[in-house]
Amino acid sequence: MKNVIQELTHIVQAVSLASSPDEQVTLMVESISKTMAVDVCSLYLVNEQGEMILLASHGLAAQAVRKVKLPAGKGLVGLVASSRHPVNIADAEQHPTYYYVAETEEERFHGFCAVPLVSSGKVIGVLVVQTSEKRQFSKDEEGFLVTLGAQLALMLENYEVPVDDIERNIRVRGVKGAPGVAVGFSILCDHGELYEVANSPCDNIEEAVREWHQLIAEVSAQIDKEQLSLGDEVSEGVGGIFNAYKLLLNDSSFVGEVEASIRENNWLPGALKQTIQYFSELFLSMDDPYLQARHEDIHHLGNKLFNVWRGVKALEHDSQEDIVLMGRQISISDIAAAPADRLKAIVCFSGSGLSHTAVLANALGIPAVMGTGPISGLAERKLLIVDGDQGQVYISPNDLLLKEYRKLILEGNELTRQLQSLRLEPAVSTDHHRVDLYTNTGLLTDISPGLNNGAQGVGLYRTEIPFLIRDSFPTEEEQVEVYRQVLTAYAGKPVYMRTLDIGGDKQLPYFPISDEENPALGWRGIRFTLDNSPLLMTQVRAMLIASEGINNLHLLLPMVTSIREIDEFKSILSDACSQLKESGRKIKRPRLGIMIEVPAMISQIGFLKGKVNFISIGSNDLSQYLLALDRNNARVASRYDHVHPAVLHELKRILVSAKAINLPVSLCGEMAADPIAVMLLLGLGLRTLSMSAAKLPYIKWLIRNLSIAQSEIIVEKALKMDNPQAIRSFVGQKIKDLGLAELIR
Ligand code: PEP
Ligand code: MG
Repeated sequence: MKNVIQELTHIVQAVSLASSPDEQVTLMVESISKTMAVDVCSLYLVNEQGEMILLASHGLAAQAVRKVKLPAGKGLVGLVASSRHPVNIADAEQHPTYYYVAETEEERFHGFCAVPLVSSGKVIGVLVVQTSEKRQFSKDEEGFLVTLGAQLALMLENYEVPVDDIERNIRVRGVKGAPGVAVGFSILCDHGELYEVANSPCDNIEEAVREWHQLIAEVSAQIDKEQLSLGDEVSEGVGGIFNAYKLLLNDSSFVGEVEASIRENNWLPGALKQTIQYFSELFLSMDDPYLQARHEDIHHLGNKLFNVWRGVKALEHDSQEDIVLMGRQISISDIAAAPADRLKAIVCFSGSGLSHTAVLANALGIPAVMGTGPISGLAERKLLIVDGDQGQVYISPNDLLLKEYRKLILEGNELTRQLQSLRLEPAVSTDHHRVDLYTNTGLLTDISPGLNNGAQGVGLYRTEIPFLIRDSFPTEEEQVEVYRQVLTAYAGKPVYMRTLDIGGDKQLPYFPISDEENPALGWRGIRFTLDNSPLLMTQVRAMLIASEGINNLHLLLPMVTSIREIDEFKSILSDACSQLKESGRKIKRPRLGIMIEVPAMISQIGFLKGKVNFISIGSNDLSQYLLALDRNNARVASRYDHVHPAVLHELKRILVSAKAINLPVSLCGEMAADPIAVMLLLGLGLRTLSMSAAKLPYIKWLIRNLSIAQSEIIVEKALKMDNPQAIRSFVGQKIKDLGLAELIR
């Protein structure tokens, strides 16, 4: 055998030349056959049922490819998959588990060596090589195949799942984007990239200039239409993006520059690209971060113009079917173009639960699954089940599965309707302990569901959301306007506004912090804002101004790691208060608290005495950092669980330490919306929870049916268990015993 690394590199290089995923797997088997000098190389993919689909083959009969499906555990391929161990034999036919499939015409081949492809601990496929002659593969050859298998498993993780002729009921895993379950037909959102366009001479300059002006008019009209179709509430939240587009389209130097470039004999897309690049770089080089950030507006607008020019029409939704939008990226325009009553869910090949698109899906109250990796074959309408609660999508589900999910959707709707009657009732346990329930919001559209569902206030207002859905930093005035609407809507009730928490997995498109090796441990939250104090000052001023006369603002600081950060922030807050008081405003200094989400803060809670008025546990990040598990990485998602014993014991420590200094504690991470976690949190002594509005009625229902005394006993037992699975099944059973099985899924 030749040099393994070299051979591997050749294969990977060959595969990288593929223009489609289907070609990719074909090239894979071809180059492996060549490298190993074998007659056959085949790749089988294991589906959810454990069946093995012949995905690609060099050497077996072509008609078998993508048609043959081996039953789970059958034959030598099945043996490799079930034993997770290579099989290497001189004459396959002689093996007792040999299973003959006529379509493959494999009776001609004898020598057989196969290895499992394993990803995230699961067998996802089997790689097979065969020879006509009877021969056992050498140890070196087998070792090479094992190495190849490990590499291929990595590549196949993101393999575009073929849906057409092979399979129904395919499950694609991603990460949770927005909760809920929906069924609908896929619509693919396809976006071209202007930056990939090359310069080219212009055939007819006058015609191209005319076309350019027409294009501007067409895109302007389209933007107006999109803004209208989004409806008042959402469009107010994202209005900044549309306004920025319109501003640029009316800018004479921008319009003139494209025209000049056409007149220099560049075709329209080339001229557009050149101008967009020029303006984008110009803005990027500016010192002022507000202006700097406009480069992203320009880039987006360029793509929009290019796609309209290419004839990529805004999606037309003429049929009456329910729709699931899917694509590498789903823009606000795509969402705006979809009829609101039929847009049921979003599936995004890239991105995380905190991406722009997920944020919008949450605001619209529709389920979303993010980061699935590319899924091919979906341009045609395919029926999908989108399970935003579990972060998974089923493609072309069979009737049985569809029936189950439709039932789930109906039951969910019915329960939600019934729970509406609890809207004005307090969350009081059967043994008369009151729990305060708040809502988490970030978009203006989130306001009314919180109020409708009986939230006592806003426990976490994520201010990064108004920043994320824009294409540049909002100004002080713009921020005041957004914050005031929230504070006004909740007048008389507390609103906990968090200062900007970007960085890590929350990147602003117009201010990317991309040069960090370890962004989760890098420049995020309060670290970023203290280092960009003008930004922080603007935000704090905007919050204070917005709260003038309403006075329900509470300030919350994200990602605090040391007391010094609190001191630094307090001096900015004092400055902001004095500036505004001097200018005649009646500012009331708000109460201040910090998020407990960096584990380092747990042992420092005693130092918070006299420094802050409250703390709020950010269980999403706290779990991420305690467990060293990325909260957005689908590969480790099954290991990430906030009821992990390590998290529960630390929560206990937080509550004990806070009680010792009389510091009020709340929790605003996902745990607050998870019934199993809530049972444990109440047992630990927590009495204030903040969650998404949609989940609030369910948690209230749980609290009104349990006794705190019992939850104290339950948590004591759970704290003695050494794994989250055992804790989940133990507490889950207790919830079922209360007659609340609908809460456990
Ligand atoms: C958290 O970390 O739990 C939290 C509430 O903050 P975010 O999810 O916005 O990081
Ligand atoms: Mg957090």
